[in-house]
Amino acid sequence: MSPAMIPAAKPIIGDDERVAVDRVLASGMVAQGPEVQAFEAEFGDHMVAGRTCVAVNSGTSGLHLGLLASGIGPGDEVIVPSFTFAATGNAVALTGATPVFADIEPLHFCLDPESVRAAVTDRTRAIMPVHLYGHPADMPALQAVADGANLLVFEDAAQAHGASLNGRKVGTFGAFGMFSLYPTKNMTSGEGGMVSCGSEDIARRVRLLRNQGMERQYANELVGLNNRMTDIHAAIGRVQLTKVDGWTKKRQDNAAFLDANLEGVITPAVAPGAAHVYHQYTIRISGANAEERNRMVAALREEHGVGSGVYYPIPNHRLESLASYAPGLELPETERAAAEVISLPVHPSLTPEDLSRIVTSVNAVVKAGA
Ligand SMILES: *Cc1c(COP(=O)(O)O)cnc(C)c1O
Repeated sequence: MSPAMIPAAKPIIGDDERVAVDRVLASGMVAQGPEVQAFEAEFGDHMVAGRTCVAVNSGTSGLHLGLLASGIGPGDEVIVPSFTFAATGNAVALTGATPVFADIEPLHFCLDPESVRAAVTDRTRAIMPVHLYGHPADMPALQAVADGANLLVFEDAAQAHGASLNGRKVGTFGAFGMFSLYPTKNMTSGEGGMVSCGSEDIARRVRLLRNQGMERQYANELVGLNNRMTDIHAAIGRVQLTKVDGWTKKRQDNAAFLDANLEGVITPAVAPGAAHVYHQYTIRISGANAEERNRMVAALREEHGVGSGVYYPIPNHRLESLASYAPGLELPETERAAAEVISLPVHPSLTPEDLSRIVTSVNAVVKAGA
């Protein structure tokens, strides 16, 4: 009998979350209310050094409203990585601005400051790095590029709850930062997003934009959306916030075990001063093409019952939806990473037996492939 499948990701939702949801349902008040307000304050204190946070209904909404609140719109260019989830570029495009794709640095898969510098034009208004897989982007170097060209910096921290660089938490560097609360992220509210705001002005505008432009009912100040979080989702998120640090520690311990025992692959590098929270544990099969890599993913699943993921197989500048923004663009490090990466399970539910099986399986598959 083949062993049970080890899933690539596994959201942890338990009795505490159910009790919290029941409390909200029993109150009869389920839309945005006191739970959302409490969640915003607790998230701000815990995750982003007391910054003002505004909760919304998804991470994508958080990026969209953060950009709109920062005045990004038609005629503007925002430099983003291509090696990320499409939400990053989508949010820019939805404001009417142009996403401009820059390359990544090969060690940590985050925006390469030199590629960003080369992409700056007189229309560039901002840089939006992604702290991909839970590893912080090189914020000091990116800030230096931004300062040299008078640009804003935003952060897509969707995958990086609690990550930091030289003791400074991600989500505290940019004019705004966004955290996703989707179920497979390091913590969840069901669906949801949190915007960490660099000024009270941005915070007020994100609050207005999520609520039809209203602060006072029926006194609409600007054109907005309904991107509110519900109290049901906030109640789940508040419970998860009390647990996420323990889960992150487990992710880091799991990563250390994989680092020490995997053979013949490039394990994830951690930059000096960086705290990696391992949303994904992403290895490279050096020199592989996409077909070879995909065969290894299939062998892990079919022969060993080890789930894994490829994030992301198609760079954003090659997607049907976004390619028109980047005619003829070549991003060599992005293309190479898209062919070589495999994300192995690293989630906090893994047992010691699971971890051993992942190591044995990957080492066998890589050896057979070599
Ligand atoms: C998940 C994710 C998003 C979008 O978050 P949602 O909550 O799914 O809308 C944006 N950027 C990155 C890098 C993500 O991983």
